Amino acid sequence: MKSLFVDKYIVDFYWYFILLIIITINRQTLSAAVLPQNSISLYTENDKVTVLTSKNFSSTVYQSKTAWLIEFYASWCGHCQSYANTYREVAIDTWGWRTVVRIGAINCHTDENSALCEQHNISAYPTLRLIEPEALMNTSKTITVLATDAKDVERELIKELADLKRTDKTWPHFASLNQASFEDLYNRISSSVKMVLVIIEKRDDFTGRQIMLDFSKYYEQLAIFRMTTDRKLWYKFQINMTDIPALFAIFPNRTVEQINTKQNTNEKIGSRNLLNYAIRSRIRQTQFIDNFDDTDLEEIIQSRNALENMKKKKKSNQNNKEINNVLNKNINDQKISMVDLETSLSYMLRREIPRVQEIRGETYDALVHWLIVLTKYFPGREPVMNYLKQLLSKVQEQPNGLTGKQFRELADTNTPDSYLPKSLLQYKYCVGSSSQYRGYPCSLWILFHTLTVSQVQLETTQMNTIEIPSAIKYFIKNFFSCRHCSENFMKETQDINQLDSQNKHAAVMYLWTIHNRVNKRLHGDNTEDPLHPKIQFPSGSLCSKCHLTNENSDNNFDLSNIINFLLRYYSKDNIDLLSVENFIINHDNKQNLMPQYERRTSIDQYSMIEITDESTEKFGLIRFIISIIQHFPLYFFILLVIIIIFVRRRYFKSKRKRYTL
Ligand SMILES: Cc1cc2nc3c(=O)[nH]c(=O)nc-3n(C[C@H](O)[C@H](O)[C@H](O)COP(=O)(O)OP(=O)(O)OC[C@H]3O[C@@H](n4cnc5c(N)ncnc54)[C@H](O)[C@@H]3O)c2cc1C
Repeated sequence: MKSLFVDKYIVDFYWYFILLIIITINRQTLSAAVLPQNSISLYTENDKVTVLTSKNFSSTVYQSKTAWLIEFYASWCGHCQSYANTYREVAIDTWGWRTVVRIGAINCHTDENSALCEQHNISAYPTLRLIEPEALMNTSKTITVLATDAKDVERELIKELADLKRTDKTWPHFASLNQASFEDLYNRISSSVKMVLVIIEKRDDFTGRQIMLDFSKYYEQLAIFRMTTDRKLWYKFQINMTDIPALFAIFPNRTVEQINTKQNTNEKIGSRNLLNYAIRSRIRQTQFIDNFDDTDLEEIIQSRNALENMKKKKKSNQNNKEINNVLNKNINDQKISMVDLETSLSYMLRREIPRVQEIRGETYDALVHWLIVLTKYFPGREPVMNYLKQLLSKVQEQPNGLTGKQFRELADTNTPDSYLPKSLLQYKYCVGSSSQYRGYPCSLWILFHTLTVSQVQLETTQMNTIEIPSAIKYFIKNFFSCRHCSENFMKETQDINQLDSQNKHAAVMYLWTIHNRVNKRLHGDNTEDPLHPKIQFPSGSLCSKCHLTNENSDNNFDLSNIINFLLRYYSKDNIDLLSVENFIINHDNKQNLMPQYERRTSIDQYSMIEITDESTEKFGLIRFIISIIQHFPLYFFILLVIIIIFVRRRYFKSKRKRYTL
């Protein structure tokens, strides 16, 4: 008997083992498919922000019973990172409102979501949009909420919700009562309502509307109204200006009872909290409302504490000296990579610029100016330079401008001798310690510095020192979707016209200065990667001669050594090319899009040498076979385990039969 039990146990163990293998394989495949490296969300489930993607967006947001406030953001955008805590605050503060409005966010940076964000004409990040309840896809009006501070967002949200003027019974009674509507009060509410509350407050006060939303979950049993300007009614309630906001319960026989909102506490807890507390106590006393609970309140308090702890933890990480020491080593290792430069170009040309719906007038001029600078100074390999030149000439063929979509079609065109890899947004040196850090903006800075150095190294006789800084400025103004970064940069570059046209290093030094100014502004900010703090560049360890003393202070640089360092650091010879070839091969294999290359080592040798213009289908079949061969050991192992289990089961079965006989 015992042996049978043990044997059965072993067989079961095998089944569990197989299940484990299948789950592991599935998890690996799924995580690779659903969460590619660039699909980081700035929010998690704990934030009370619903994480939206192109997969769940329509089913969640359209024909929903509630309105949706949605943040469209890009995870690389510094301002979106700073804003995330504000948005978390909004989500926590409005958690009790979720039968009326829900809070969501979508990361437009990912390959998966970018098309959806484009359909919503998102031109800058972060953008807040309100979608009304029961909205239909592509037909419903979306409202842009223009506010940055959490309290302002909530106020704007309330205004927009009130403006929807919905009459359904589930919707709060945002409009203020007047004499007539007061008399008619009980006709306006559902018969299931057991308690009617009226909040008397100043006209521009939002407390009453916040309270309506805070208790919206109980709309069937609790009706809340607000009353503002009607002096006659104020008189009726016998209240003074000093008493407001005041809270009254109105009964069906029109008797009125004031509810005490004062609390025996010296703490300033704000009128929303006071009213909230008073209503909750009253409900608990009277037990008018069925199933009344405080779980929302508890969840809100928990989330608030978690947010505060997260902020504190981040601050202590930034002050962590150990991390700062690690980073000094990292900075030492930094190089420029062609992978980063080409990824930057690809993201810029295929994602950032096409976001702009109409590229005309100043925007068109900015684009042409920028493409001219790229074609002249980008130290790229031949096919990429051909690609840029073709793109420029195609854009110039349309002097009246073009739409973002038309530009994307041009930017998407790769031919065998003129192309830019369609990268999967992976960076080599601009990779951050976590996926929201560094990436595109880092690669953009490196591209800018590389262009200014390249201009000096090309040593054209009539060098125009303002050409590149001005192209950068107008590119950032028109095409950099991190809204506040772009605005800040405009302020930062106000003095651009004062560039010394006689000094051939003026542009290099100007950009270095501006970048250091930005570093100084952002140092210690929560957008800062803890492993790559924003220092005054270059650090002493990267260039000891660049510093007059050992200290990395702002004005302590030896400018002639700085220029020498920058010319070397951002020179064509300091660009890592080997990895760019690997990168292309890997990514092209995945995407089935690009021709094949032979590995080369030096920049001058670097050119496309072997082009096989095979159809993608053929490539697909070959790669499928290769993938089967690559995974053969795994498949073989699984098969072996299945055979062993099968044989063992049969063996035990026959043994058991014999045993029972
Ligand atoms: C035009 C522009 C404006 C921006 N404005 C904002 C903003 O307002 N708010 C915000 O949160 N984020 C802003 N960003 C993003 C921010 O500047 C960083 O790019 C981002 O936080 C990533 O930082 P990082 O650690 O990769 O270093 P980055 O600052 O991106 O630098 C990349 C690399 O350049 C080198 N480097 C650093 N300083 C210098 C220098 N002075 N000269 C030459 N090389 C240098 C270093 O090797 C560094 O690793 C902006 C980005 C750009 C391109």
